Amino acid sequence: MTGIYLDHNASCPPDPVVVDAMLPWLRDGHANPHSPHAAGRRAMRAVEDAARSIADLIGANEQDIVFCSGATEANNTIMRGVLHAGWASRGLATSTIEHKSVDAVAHLLAGDGVECFSLPVDRNGVLRPAQLEAVSERLQSFEASLVSVVHGNNEIGTVQNLSTLSLAVAGTSTQLHVDASQSAGIVPIDVQQTPVDFLVLSSHKLYGPQGIGAFYAAPGARDQLQPLLYGGDQQQSLRPGTIAVFLAVGFGEACRLAKMRRDSHSQHLNSMTELFLSLLQEHNLEFEVLGSPHYRLPGLISLRLLQSDSEKVLNRLDGQVHASPSSACTAGTFGPSHVLTAIGLNDSEAQGVIRLGFGRTTTAADVVAAARHLVSAAQ
Ligand code: PMP
Repeated sequence: MTGIYLDHNASCPPDPVVVDAMLPWLRDGHANPHSPHAAGRRAMRAVEDAARSIADLIGANEQDIVFCSGATEANNTIMRGVLHAGWASRGLATSTIEHKSVDAVAHLLAGDGVECFSLPVDRNGVLRPAQLEAVSERLQSFEASLVSVVHGNNEIGTVQNLSTLSLAVAGTSTQLHVDASQSAGIVPIDVQQTPVDFLVLSSHKLYGPQGIGAFYAAPGARDQLQPLLYGGDQQQSLRPGTIAVFLAVGFGEACRLAKMRRDSHSQHLNSMTELFLSLLQEHNLEFEVLGSPHYRLPGLISLRLLQSDSEKVLNRLDGQVHASPSSACTAGTFGPSHVLTAIGLNDSEAQGVIRLGFGRTTTAADVVAAARHLVSAAQ
């Protein structure tokens, strides 16, 4: 790829070790892992090993991992599967800064009679605990209820306190669904220590291949979940269809590496972030960094340029620096993203926002060059 890739929160390049692990399965691993013969059983062992590595990353057991095509499908499966039409009354709470794959499902469910509650955030994108508590209490009156919250926000990087979320529903019948697509592999997550009912992962956000993801479903939670798709009895019918072995192997390898390298990876991302911001300051660029100053995804910078329009700046940077206006998933829409609106930015403030995402292979030289390009594009 030519140019400096600073869009790791949209998609990360697969790690070379991941590619090496996948290739033999892509070339010669076509046996169906659900077939009972020796080749099928060998493929299934590879899938199970992958599930173990995925589970290890979040402190789960491998039998509680369900493979699917990515976080979008996982979020859909969980929300629609928990709040399916079979219940007499259904309640859902989502934060105002959810990814579209949660937000859009919430709208769909609202149209289908689910009572939806909004969990507001402050200017830094942090959930307000008092409102969370009040909404959790309201949810107790429904036969089925769910709280769906993004752990690390994909646009501004704010990381929510998982313990606060977990405690808010502890001892109640409300289920907790956490979208950890952006945070897993960078931020510690342990579902034994901090129980959740569902946790969503996306392979390509942690240096695995695109087109595969998974969700963790706690043993009790899984029993009540209705599948989104119907077909064979793979994955206990919860997600029928043949598991793509080479993708599962790559995802598993990516999780194994992520667990091993998590601390050094986040340290690297933090030092690249500090370097970048100090260079912008040296060049007297006027900017504000959005998101929580205390707990943000390492490597994600949501940069609000005070004197420039992000679209113009990104057009000037095109080909030199690959970055996004706010998130790749909202890039096709007009006007400010719902996340920027939710943290209180007006239209003109939101127009100055660029999202930069550093990654494992981003070097100090990349950061220096990117800062230089950005400063000249903004001036
Ligand atoms: N949730 C979050 C927080 C994300 O950042 C993304 C990807 N932008 C998704 C869900 C969707 O992930 P996938 O591409 O695996 O469907």
